[in-house]
Amino acid sequence: MSVLTKAIVAHSVIVSAIESKDIVNRAIKIHNLSPVAAAAMGRTLTMAALMGKEFKNKEDYLTVIVDGGGPLGKITVCADGDGHVKGDIENPVVETVLKPDGHLDVGGAVGKDGTLTVIKDIGLKQPYVGTSKLVSGEIAQDFAYYFADSEQIACGVTLGVGLDRKQKCNSAGGVFVQIMPDCPEDVLDRVETIMYAMDEMSYQFEGSTAEQVIRRFFGEFDLIVTENVNVEYKCNCNKYKIDRIVKSLGKEDALSVAEEMGQLEVCCHFCGRKYVYDKQAILKLFEKQTTDKK
Ligand SMILES: [Zn+2]
Repeated sequence: MSVLTKAIVAHSVIVSAIESKDIVNRAIKIHNLSPVAAAAMGRTLTMAALMGKEFKNKEDYLTVIVDGGGPLGKITVCADGDGHVKGDIENPVVETVLKPDGHLDVGGAVGKDGTLTVIKDIGLKQPYVGTSKLVSGEIAQDFAYYFADSEQIACGVTLGVGLDRKQKCNSAGGVFVQIMPDCPEDVLDRVETIMYAMDEMSYQFEGSTAEQVIRRFFGEFDLIVTENVNVEYKCNCNKYKIDRIVKSLGKEDALSVAEEMGQLEVCCHFCGRKYVYDKQAILKLFEKQTTDKK
């Protein structure tokens, strides 16, 4: 289980942080991610978890799509207001390239010739959709730019995923700093300096909770912790949703696949769960649909 902490710093800065190792390891296991894919997707999942906690209602839902035109393809991540995140990536096993400084070339694998799109569904008639250009493909910078450009929020974002030699994540986390409009100039200057020093983020979360990381960096200010909540990688797929997908295939097509393959299998992209339908189950499903219509 990952824990997210929110705090108000100097009465004028909202800081939220999450220790996200378990979320990243779950994604690595489900999608069999190569190291560079784990870094890119892990950072995106970490940010989505932080954004999900900005929602007022548990049912509120966001989808983030990072589409940079690089070898990893599209990364899609979802989060709700109740502490759940999940994600999918087009090409999970992209070869890992290192930058001259020895770090994974996440920007090269994501690509920067594309967009970051955020779709927020907060129960209104139309979901909110915001899009901005990718600036580096390194994810954190791209989100910071998105908030400034698309939501007019002054903020800082830092995200990190550390991997061991066995391709498991040994530390991961992120910090999201939002500056309130009445923030005094001297506080703002100091916060900017702190954010700059927060590079190498994953290392900060090694053996530390999110709250400890916040206190480590912002301890010099008046600091009030407002929330400590659990966040986990959890998919919300269910039989009812998959039934609808099978129905959308049409009776004949669904039956012909089942006949050819012995059964019809639908696999959820986000959690890998398999839903299996034999001929009997398909007939029953469409029978039910006819009854429903009456
Ligand atoms: Zn699922």
